[in-house]
Amino acid sequence: MRERLVVVGNGMVGLRFVEEVTRRAPDRFDITVIGAEPVPAYNRVLLSALLAGGVTDDDCRFRDRRWYLASRVRLITGARATGIDTAEREVHIRGHGFVPFDRLVLATGSEPIRLSAPGMDLPGVITFRDLADVAVMRAAAQRKTPAVVIGGGLLGLEAAYGLARAGVAVTLVHLADRVMERQLDTGAARIVEAAMRERGVDIVLEAQTAGVVGRDQVEAVRLADGRTIPAGLVVVAVGVRPSVGLAVGAGLSVERGIVVDDALDTSADGIHAIGECVSHRGIVYGLVEPGYAQATVLARRLAGEDARYTGTLLSTRLKVSGVPVFSAGDVTPPVGAEVITLSDASAGRYARLVVERDRLVGAILVGETRHAGFFQELITNRTDISGSRDELVFGPRLASASAAIENQAEPAPEPAADVVAEAA
Ligand SMILES: Cc1cc2nc3c(=O)[nH]c(=O)nc-3n(C[C@H](O)[C@H](O)[C@H](O)COP(=O)(O)OP(=O)(O)OC[C@H]3O[C@@H](n4cnc5c(N)ncnc54)[C@H](O)[C@@H]3O)c2cc1C
Repeated sequence: MRERLVVVGNGMVGLRFVEEVTRRAPDRFDITVIGAEPVPAYNRVLLSALLAGGVTDDDCRFRDRRWYLASRVRLITGARATGIDTAEREVHIRGHGFVPFDRLVLATGSEPIRLSAPGMDLPGVITFRDLADVAVMRAAAQRKTPAVVIGGGLLGLEAAYGLARAGVAVTLVHLADRVMERQLDTGAARIVEAAMRERGVDIVLEAQTAGVVGRDQVEAVRLADGRTIPAGLVVVAVGVRPSVGLAVGAGLSVERGIVVDDALDTSADGIHAIGECVSHRGIVYGLVEPGYAQATVLARRLAGEDARYTGTLLSTRLKVSGVPVFSAGDVTPPVGAEVITLSDASAGRYARLVVERDRLVGAILVGETRHAGFFQELITNRTDISGSRDELVFGPRLASASAAIENQAEPAPEPAADVVAEAA
């Protein structure tokens, strides 16, 4: 008899898991997928591009309902799981009764953080997480309603960029002294900010939001210093937190995310978790690749293989408002580390490498990310870069030429631009 496998969450990672498990163990499980959103899983990563008009709704689709049917997967959409009975082994679903399980996979992702300031529940205040949010932003763009985006992280920048592209007057307000302060240092952030301003986004840094003002609908954002910025739409993009409510209710071990081990087992027998909702070795990943790796490992395990998930090197490779950005490893230099910076603001190009004991431990690239894979490999493999240190920032070709020349005890070629090295 087949085991009953229930997956809660039909997001990017939940779907990847279902794809993998149906491929690897087609006859082993009766699978039910429960998704809170009204549509099957779609490519959330493309939502920014969808908002900016760079891709269509079709581009964001993954598998249609026919695929689930053909794969003998029962998909229940628009259905929120509200509780797990670990003793009876049932998942309770709002409006749909309950579904029994032998094995359960939680892939509930993250939910946007909402600010507790006054006025945040007024109509016109939204977050940026799903297709429904994009629909609201597109409608506001059609009305040319001025918008304020709160939060200068990746999502805030993408929301502001997309709205600006749609012809909306956008102001982005951010608490820190630079955008994306967790991934970028000041030099890199300034390049991204300049690109945003060029695209028509007004940026207000070191700005604390005191609240949202309006009677029946948002009318303005009020800052702590007394300024008000008129807005008919406010997009709150101040971060996400793992969706752990179900796991907490079921008594599972939860830190910031649902705690899993290398087997992706939670603290409860037969209950697994993957994706943005988990905390693995103390890390909660906010990107899709680690979730995909977890999905594959868990599918392999459930198919009877011996696979383990040991973590993913944190790296971000994306386009922020059209500007390519890559950030990997430890970009805040540890004490004693050395920082190599190459900055060409007029060309919109910036690179910063963090080197510790002849090993590359972190890298930020803005504007030119061709060599991202090379740097990522050096960090992952802990490669000794002492032979190519001076040319490293220019990428693999110059670095290997330099290492070869050094091996012949000859001087390295002259670098093509100024490189600044500073001790941290
Ligand atoms: C605009 C935007 C741009 C992004 N860009 C990038 C990028 O460039 N690169 C990158 O790596 N990542 C990016 N991300 C992050 C990426 O989308 C996530 O890492 C990824 O979606 C995580 O997948 P997940 O399946 O774990 O969670 P989600 O995709 O969040 O899916 C979880 C699903 O579970 C559902 N759910 C939650 N609770 C329940 C419940 N109780 N019952 C039923 N269903 C439930 C949710 O409704 C949701 O559909 C971006 C995210 C956004 C919003």
